[in-house]
Amino acid sequence: MDDVRDLRGGGHDRMAIDIPNPIPGYDSAEHPAPPVVLTQPGLPIRRADIDPDALKIMGRLQRMGFVAYLCGGAVRDLMLGRRPNDYDIATDARPGQIKKRFANVFVIGRRFRLAHVHCPGGKIIEVATFRRELERGDDVDPSVPPDPQAIYGTPREDAFRRDITINALYYDPAIDAVIDYVGGLEDMRARRVRTIGEPGVRFAEDPVRVWRVLRHAARLGFEVEAVTARAIPDFGHLLATASGARLYEEFNKDLAYETRPVFEALRANRLLGHILGAMGLAYETDPALFAKISALLDVEERARRGGFQLAPEEMYALVFWPWLEPLFDTPEEDMVPVLAAAIQNAGMRMTIPKTLRANAVHILVLVDALRSALRTGQVRSALLHRAHVSQALRLLSLIAEGRPPAEGETFETLLRRVHPEAAVEERMKRRRRRRRGRRNRGGSPAASDGSST
Ligand code: ATP
Ligand code: MG
Repeated sequence: MDDVRDLRGGGHDRMAIDIPNPIPGYDSAEHPAPPVVLTQPGLPIRRADIDPDALKIMGRLQRMGFVAYLCGGAVRDLMLGRRPNDYDIATDARPGQIKKRFANVFVIGRRFRLAHVHCPGGKIIEVATFRRELERGDDVDPSVPPDPQAIYGTPREDAFRRDITINALYYDPAIDAVIDYVGGLEDMRARRVRTIGEPGVRFAEDPVRVWRVLRHAARLGFEVEAVTARAIPDFGHLLATASGARLYEEFNKDLAYETRPVFEALRANRLLGHILGAMGLAYETDPALFAKISALLDVEERARRGGFQLAPEEMYALVFWPWLEPLFDTPEEDMVPVLAAAIQNAGMRMTIPKTLRANAVHILVLVDALRSALRTGQVRSALLHRAHVSQALRLLSLIAEGRPPAEGETFETLLRRVHPEAAVEERMKRRRRRRRGRRNRGGSPAASDGSST
């Protein structure tokens, strides 16, 4: 179902009933209103659309006497008829209890412990214990786990500590209904992104939420609710105070899908510079440059929908490309350190792991080399044997052709299309022959393999 505007159905479907508090003694008096519960037939979620492994895990937890809800982005996406990116489960079972009762569970996280249930096929489902918003103090050591009594909470507290109302809905498979403590159903219906609680307070607590508001609005095509929107200019710059690791983690979520609309929202709110330093500022202030990255991200999104998936280093290379491309106009013998220095000196707030950065740079240098080869029709076969060349080719296809490489398409295929077949072929054949001859003379044992290319 694509539309939630008729979410309320005939009016009987959306009832406010009290859900018995599953953890007596835990509930606070702060938010005493009972949750809104949306049941079938007005609920736009079909059980058949829910990941069977997630249903299995919730079913088992519930049979053991625990509460187990689907939560976060999965509920939001299911209600909108979108395929969830991942499935998160919230429960009153503690990580240790989950570990004891399930096979294939890894408890991760030092400060907040989460259970990762590893399912067949490599899928991981995150099972987190309901928790409350922690008091923030300057003396808090982020690596030390807080006292369990201070962390864990009720479903209601768990809903209220979340970022925006549409991300705080629970789906309870036991009653096939969505439970809403925060007004998320109403905002879903109005297609609106609103922080839970006072935006100024929530943004000050965690400036990354500014980004998250913009991301979810941009991805879903929702509007940012007025009070939330008014607070953004006052808190956006605080993004720069978040840790580099945290910014990297969030940036990867943007790279996961629907990247272009989020980039546009970040640019419109002048936040790209706070995340990406000089590169972000360049994208923010140079419309022609931004048009290039936008177009590339659109190509990438289309390819992704067609089942083509870029690896992280390819995705980073893609994001860097329009900004770094002008450096190739004044080529140096070795462009690797030139690009690496540009990235290093950009003053990016987010920390990109070294290997990832280095791989992205190598890919880009090869993209340029392949591009020159396409232009001139001349290619040294050594180039085609370099590490990362297949990744560079994938990127080059997106950049130069506006599409991913077709099945079985090689660089030679591309080259032949651009240049008269005979000439190119002869040149490549001659080179290959010469190399083979050299190898044979050297008596290398490797000379006999790899000749089938
Ligand atoms: P997607 O995975 O599709 O990007 P998501 O909503 O699942 O979207 P995640 O980043 O995976 O987003 O976070 C999972 C859930 O955790 C969110 O839905 C939200 O409820 C909560 N959450 C994440 N980040 C914050 C934050 N900074 N403050 C409060 N709650 C948060
Ligand atoms: Mg998620």
